Amino acid sequence: MIAFAGNPLNRLSEKRPDTAWIAERLRDPASLILPVWRLQPFMTGGDAALQAGFLRPGAAESLAAPDAPCIFLGLEGARAMFARDISAAENPQHGGPLAGLGEFRELRGAAPLLPAKDLAILGQAKAMIDWHQRHGFCARCGAPSVAADAGYKRVCTVCGTEHFPRTDPAVIMLATQGDACLLGRNKNWPPDFYSALAGFLEPGESIEEAVCRELFEEAGVRAGAVRYYASQPWPFPSQLMIGCFAECESRDLVLDANEIAEAEWFTRERARALLAGALAGRRGPFSVAIAHHLIRAWIQE
Ligand SMILES: [Zn+2]
Repeated sequence: MIAFAGNPLNRLSEKRPDTAWIAERLRDPASLILPVWRLQPFMTGGDAALQAGFLRPGAAESLAAPDAPCIFLGLEGARAMFARDISAAENPQHGGPLAGLGEFRELRGAAPLLPAKDLAILGQAKAMIDWHQRHGFCARCGAPSVAADAGYKRVCTVCGTEHFPRTDPAVIMLATQGDACLLGRNKNWPPDFYSALAGFLEPGESIEEAVCRELFEEAGVRAGAVRYYASQPWPFPSQLMIGCFAECESRDLVLDANEIAEAEWFTRERARALLAGALAGRRGPFSVAIAHHLIRAWIQE
């Protein structure tokens, strides 16, 4: 299972504009609301049994600013699930109604500890609230915008332009050449960390074209056949990672010194040792990252 995918909620998008229905669900004692504080979702259970910290309606309401986004995440069975931004609160896990109930944690660090279903829902909640925090003003005229459609839209208060949550597609590709795969280290990564190369899709570009362009720009290799593997929602802040394999014509590398510090070809045996943490001086992507699954799938081919 790819982390952050597999969200079990019925998003019920057709109900989002029905403000009376949404208000009723928000009052329903059976509904659940996830507080999110400064982009950190609430979690309970501690490291040993970590889970999403959904609460009954009203439990954290006093901590939210009146205009803070409230997102309808969807239905789990008949139960409505929401996320509420309580960033206005000062240190809510140490005082007030939530003190002692759980903790606000950075999602990327907590990801390996969370059940897959919870991680997918928290990713949705975090990405949505992150979008609201970064899009308070109209991109067309600069005036303030307000949330609508249960959090799935913002509308400009002056020109009426509607703005929708964005997802930024990025390609992440495991370049292969015969029985070796190419892993590299971005300049901004730790000195021993190696992973698949990646980059953003540009307007007017297909997935295959973006894969070939990025591989040539970053490593100087020409890719032929590109194969789609799987995709991953990555809410840091709003990417969709599109995982691919790309078979290259040669192993000659010309690295882009501005981006890639090092890159090398790994045999299946070395790639397997890398993922297992058994390769001296090298670390690979952890299992939450789609790069881990790309490498593992290639090893097993
Ligand atoms: Zn506007």
